[in-house]
Amino acid sequence: MADNSSWRAACTGLPWRMIAARFFLLTAMGYGVDSMMTRQQTLVGVFAHPDDESFGPGGSMARYAAEGKQVHIIIATDGIAGSVEDPKHLITHDTLAQVRSRELSNAAVALGVTSIWSLPYRDSGMRNTPENLHPAALFQQPIDALVQQLAEYIRRLQPEVIVTHDPFGGYGHPDHIRLCETVTAAFHLVRSEAQRNGNGYPGPQKLYYTAFDKRVLKLIVKFMPLMGKDPTAIGRNKDINLVEISGWETPVHAEINIEPYLPQKEAASRAHASQYSGGPTFVRVLPSFIRRQFLINESFTRAYPAPNGAVEKDLFAGVV
Ligand SMILES: [Zn+2]
Repeated sequence: MADNSSWRAACTGLPWRMIAARFFLLTAMGYGVDSMMTRQQTLVGVFAHPDDESFGPGGSMARYAAEGKQVHIIIATDGIAGSVEDPKHLITHDTLAQVRSRELSNAAVALGVTSIWSLPYRDSGMRNTPENLHPAALFQQPIDALVQQLAEYIRRLQPEVIVTHDPFGGYGHPDHIRLCETVTAAFHLVRSEAQRNGNGYPGPQKLYYTAFDKRVLKLIVKFMPLMGKDPTAIGRNKDINLVEISGWETPVHAEINIEPYLPQKEAASRAHASQYSGGPTFVRVLPSFIRRQFLINESFTRAYPAPNGAVEKDLFAGVV
């Protein structure tokens, strides 16, 4: 990724021309990552699959884009192992990867983010599935090479804030876990080299993991049997165990109000039509006043710098 042409080539997938054209148009207009005189603060979100950026912290991505930050999203895999909500979504496309690439570009427009970058890896599927072993799967890539690749994106995009998956991978997805490891390593690599070199970019300043408030999840686990649902076997493949997940500690150090941006998050989620069925069914079992609190805030664990006990309301708080 030493020059611009290879950098452009890194933006792959069916709709990349549209997204890349928008990105380079913005660059030409003076909003680019290299325009140091008027440089905007920058957030980079790194996620495993097309839809993680919307179903997860989509409200925060939309909020910071609307507030004038540069918001760049890196998606590491093609999402080809995802199951399809309705087979009609495959009628006009050859593969699910193409469908999801198209959906991702529409979601990016709905969120209003600056750019989307797709890495050329295959979705590794859930734990203990044959997809884990595919040579192109993210899970099969050497970690050192992934760290170097992500470090290069960080050097180029120069974010103050980086957001990625938590160490448990949300609900245990191997791609989420692998990405958390590699993004964390890349964050510290670029930060330490930037501090050493002093070439104008001080390196990324804050690293967050998406967090799921386990108090809410524990409530959900209690409510589900009352609704005739089994919390130990949810999802289309019944391979997600909410009781196990509710024991995974993902402390909340930042809570971002996204209420004004719920329409954008909803539109972006709907753009992922092959994967979207109106949001997690287990959330719908909550009483409406709790569900509302759950929906209007997005939670994050602060991985760096170490948390100080306060719950932040802005991911850019303290950024210089
Ligand atoms: Zn995912």
